[in-house]
Amino acid sequence: MFCLNCGKENDHYLCNDCRNYETLRRIHDDIRNFAFYPDKCLNGYVKELGANFPDPKTMINIIPDILEMYNYADVELYYCLYYLTTRQKDKFAVSAGSYLENNDFHAPSYQKIMYSYINNKIPGDFKGAEKWCDLIWETDGLFCDLYYLAAKFYAMIGDYDKADILQIRLWISAIVRVRSLFTVIVTG
Ligand SMILES: [Zn+2]
Repeated sequence: MFCLNCGKENDHYLCNDCRNYETLRRIHDDIRNFAFYPDKCLNGYVKELGANFPDPKTMINIIPDILEMYNYADVELYYCLYYLTTRQKDKFAVSAGSYLENNDFHAPSYQKIMYSYINNKIPGDFKGAEKWCDLIWETDGLFCDLYYLAAKFYAMIGDYDKADILQIRLWISAIVRVRSLFTVIVTG
């Protein structure tokens, strides 16, 4: 077996020297690219190993083996992304719930995880979705998709006032964005 980062012979996907978070982030992206966008994968070691998989998409199944080398809490985001991609809904709900609790909006991919988490909760588990929709309600500057989702949630539970206000906030943020774009164009 060889290290997917440096190619050195060893007994795991990453050798001791390469077992750090920066390398993990890159190797994780390389594997996902190989699985879903093979042309974008520039890592020769990942390509060499990936050639053994009859279906490139199944290569992402080695991700949990790599994550096991790290502390769970430090790599929870990658577990969330893995469970999301492989559609393991229950496992995603558990890991995403904990990831959302222990990180904040600024963490990479946080809002993407949040969107999928809430989307999975409605319409079956309004209680589980409510806390996070309330947080969206109270927070400015998030991705538009989250406001759409929260508006949908409030409409579903019959809180039409909040749903309407969220729609208006969405419009305002869209107008602000178009105006600033217009200013850039006009003023060069
Ligand atoms: Zn290495």
